[in-house]
Amino acid sequence: MAIESYENLLMGLKKLRLPAMAEMLDSYAKQAVSNNMSYVDFLSGLISEELKSKERKGVESRIRSARFPVLKSLSDFDYGFQPSVNRKKLEELSSLRFIDNKENVLLLGPPGVGKTLMGIGLGVKACEAGYKVLFTTLNEMLSVMTSSLADNSFTSKCRTFVCPSLLIIDEVGYLPVSKEGANFLFQVVAKRYETGSIILTSNKSFADWGEVLGDSVVASALWNRLLHHSTVFNIKGESYRLREKKAELVREERKVG
Ligand code: ADP
Ligand code: MG
Repeated sequence: MAIESYENLLMGLKKLRLPAMAEMLDSYAKQAVSNNMSYVDFLSGLISEELKSKERKGVESRIRSARFPVLKSLSDFDYGFQPSVNRKKLEELSSLRFIDNKENVLLLGPPGVGKTLMGIGLGVKACEAGYKVLFTTLNEMLSVMTSSLADNSFTSKCRTFVCPSLLIIDEVGYLPVSKEGANFLFQVVAKRYETGSIILTSNKSFADWGEVLGDSVVASALWNRLLHHSTVFNIKGESYRLREKKAELVREERKVG
């Protein structure tokens, strides 16, 4: 290929925003000559590189926008350690049908049993499958909504939590919620009811939600909407964090002894 037409082609690909094709052009052109490739095979090979690259970048960008505190995968989950987590139920959720059906997932249990790991694992899968996801702790979400009142951005901030196909609300119950906070949470849950999925994690059972939210009527209305179409995991068991710590202490004691 003449240098001039090669450079024009390269520039055209860049202008058309096909960077992977531009990057692979040289090596593909050489391969095409040495393998006596047809024009169609040459072009379809280059296009499939561009599609793969766009797909990869899409997943990366969705994962970035989801704002996970750390990346975890469901394949890291040790079912042997946490037998109260039904493997079939979690694997069924990994099919992500619950997102298409606008259903919720409630992950309840004491600290360290893997609630956040399960939430992030499902969230990452959803990003890989093309869904828009947002991860937030309840506290973070309420503080964004509270400060939005000062600059009149409440409606747009509310949309941030209402629009994603999957909203993960982590750590409900660790910190008490003000009356206004309970009201904000109710608005988000009510707006998403039957229109978008929520994964919610809590260390508190329903009986204690009235106390957390400072209002048993709001708590009951919230619970009603969350529970209506949902899969619930009531995780009982030891903290994975403490297990690691305990094993460390035992090793140290053995060394000393
Ligand atoms: P929770 O949100 O219930 O407090 P986390 O999901 O934050 O618990 O889990 C605490 C730590 O232990 C994390 O590093 C997590 O990856 C790990 N962990 C918890 N449960 C399991 C499990 N069953 N298998 C593997 N790692 C686990
Ligand atoms: Mg957690």
